[in-house]
Amino acid sequence: MKKHLVCTLLVVVFSTAAVAGDRKLRVVLLDGQNNHKWEVTSPFLKQVLEDSGRFTVEYSTNINPKDKRYEGLKNVNFPPDLRKYDVIVSNYNGGNWPKEFNDQLDDALKSGRIGLVIVHAANNSFGGWKEYNLMIGMGWRGKSYGKRLKYDDAGKAVLVDAGLDLDTGHRYTGPFKIVVRDPNHPVTKGMPLEWMHAQDELYDNLRGPIENVHVLATGYAPGGKGTGVHEPMIFTISYGKGRVFHTPMGHDLNGMRCVGFVATLLRGTEWAATGKVSIPLPSNFPSADRTSSVSAK
Ligand code: ZN
Repeated sequence: MKKHLVCTLLVVVFSTAAVAGDRKLRVVLLDGQNNHKWEVTSPFLKQVLEDSGRFTVEYSTNINPKDKRYEGLKNVNFPPDLRKYDVIVSNYNGGNWPKEFNDQLDDALKSGRIGLVIVHAANNSFGGWKEYNLMIGMGWRGKSYGKRLKYDDAGKAVLVDAGLDLDTGHRYTGPFKIVVRDPNHPVTKGMPLEWMHAQDELYDNLRGPIENVHVLATGYAPGGKGTGVHEPMIFTISYGKGRVFHTPMGHDLNGMRCVGFVATLLRGTEWAATGKVSIPLPSNFPSADRTSSVSAK
């Protein structure tokens, strides 16, 4: 007990000396239901976040008791006490959460007490939750559901009305080009203006209210299978005083091992929590003609 206390004090002193008030940010990682392998991707997300030295991560796992694949597993820390965390990372695409928790999340985000990060299929969930659609800006929905945003080859943003173009899909899967649209945002600062993302599903025709959305980067969906335009791929949403960071990348471990995905996730999570970014880009960041992936662990 005594030893533990000494260690804790040393850590506090060291942290304060390093950067005043720059303690580790507390992440709650929501999962437990998804049409993707959350039980594989959540440990990866937790590991890269913690390896950065900037975050501590606790799971909040909400199991569907009717899903035979997870028989015997129990909920962990769900619903979480949001007062304990700086930022939520959602890797959840499943049944509705209790209304009381939705309201707590809405209130905490809107008042700026917590940030929110949306990864890939987390944007498929809660089509009937009006506030969630405002938080995420756009998600996996039918074409009649809401507007869609795309960029043409000249870099012009085009807002498409509901009902036009296609339902959300991932018509192209493979490596694809990311084009940075705002190189001055803390999340994208220093990135090559174009870089190659490792093989992944490329979400196209994301639909929603698209209010207070700021696109930091797009993914080019090559014609043929893809839409032939640039799709929003890294973006932020202002929700009241709250910050939301959203990336539709990260279908599986292959997509998540992209050095560009990892750097974007770390910086996006820090930004959602604090509005600033201190995490540097790694030297092996992808280039305009070369993907780069972290080794499998
Ligand atoms: Zn997917």
